[in-house]
Amino acid sequence: SLTAGIVGLPNVGKSTLFNAITQAGAEAANYPFATIDPNVGIVEVPDDRLNKLTELVNPKKTIPTTFEFTDIAGIVKGASKGEGLGNQFLSHIRQVDAIVQVVRCFQDDNITHVSGKVDPLDDIEIINLELILADLETVNKRLQRVEKMARQKDKEAVAEYNLLEVLKEGLEAEKPARALELSDEQWKLVKDLHLLTSKPALYAANVSEEDVTDPESNEAVQKVREYAAGENAEVIVVCAKIEEEVAELDAEEKEMFLDDLGIAEAGLDQLIKASYNLLGLGTYFTAGEPEVRAWTFRKGMKAPQAAGIIHTDFERGFIRAETVSYEDLISAGTMVKAREEGNVRLEGKEYIVQDGDVIHFRFNV
Ligand code: GDP
Repeated sequence: SLTAGIVGLPNVGKSTLFNAITQAGAEAANYPFATIDPNVGIVEVPDDRLNKLTELVNPKKTIPTTFEFTDIAGIVKGASKGEGLGNQFLSHIRQVDAIVQVVRCFQDDNITHVSGKVDPLDDIEIINLELILADLETVNKRLQRVEKMARQKDKEAVAEYNLLEVLKEGLEAEKPARALELSDEQWKLVKDLHLLTSKPALYAANVSEEDVTDPESNEAVQKVREYAAGENAEVIVVCAKIEEEVAELDAEEKEMFLDDLGIAEAGLDQLIKASYNLLGLGTYFTAGEPEVRAWTFRKGMKAPQAAGIIHTDFERGFIRAETVSYEDLISAGTMVKAREEGNVRLEGKEYIVQDGDVIHFRFNV
């Protein structure tokens, strides 16, 4: 499954946030096959639609879908040169599908900042520069290989050579690959290079308890927003400390606690949703009396593939997907009514599953 890696300089609140993630952790009983890796935190994906479907169907059990965060410790200046844990850090980033960069936006004189002062842009640039330098090395190596073939006018090699030149120029200007303007064809080629700075990224601005209800008054947050806008990245404001405190509360207690503080939606919940979207993930539902359940699929997946997420047998023996959209089902009120209204469709194996579909798969065993 896809995972977002959490990175950040020391003392920005990474561990605090990751603690919150593991404590809020998905109920293990529901996910017996989940891997147990101390660096991976599995959280349930908050989804109001699942609650509404539960009210509608009244099942014995409701099971949310999950999302995985990976804790990536150990960034240091000079990582791209293999200093300290540098290489290890970069290879861990290589393995994740998206990057969540925690940026310190809280002032606290008791907590040392590695560069001596809280400057979120400096912090972001230290990390991004290491990733950019690592990518530059990848691109240069590849350029050396492709150059000869390009000179011989090999068509594919020429296309790749030209792309590599664009990447090189961008990276040398300290731009992450994701911020470059490339054609669709070129993006396909970029994928094969497995660059660190082409992974989708978002910034988690970690603010103090005081600033969390009015983060826009925090200058550091504004700076992060401006920076992120320049590379089309999203910013989520969190207070890692509060997230750590509410992580162990049950849903009702948590809501009361956040209400008291004037917080509409927990930062961690926003972060989970944003990371999920960043990776192009969607949710479909199965809704029966025994169990109402949310499932994660990659947008663009066809019905048999999506069925295979539940069980490989569902994919192999796929016949049809009996499908109704969440909105149509809710407005009908019952499955029977939705069917009468003609909104329950029988879809075949070319059907592209949509976010919010409520599906009953038919399959041969
Ligand atoms: P890491 O090195 O990035 O993993 O940072 P930690 O999570 O260990 O946090 C470093 C210090 O900052 C700890 O003393 C935390 O309690 C404190 N800290 C983290 N998040 C917040 C926050 O949102 N507000 C305040 N005031 N302190 C925080």
